[in-house]
Amino acid sequence: MGRWICTECGLRKESRCKPRKCPACGEKDSFEKEEEEETRGEKN
Ligand SMILES: [Zn+2]
Repeated sequence: MGRWICTECGLRKESRCKPRKCPACGEKDSFEKEEEEETRGEKN
């Protein structure tokens, strides 16, 4: 899962692929990937 953040309104969304449109502000293609630490090894 990737985390995406809307650069317009700051809405955060978790999705495997980039959301095309922000449901909150309606901006198109405003999401940027939010970097998170790589998980090393198996984590379950
Ligand atoms: Zn937004």
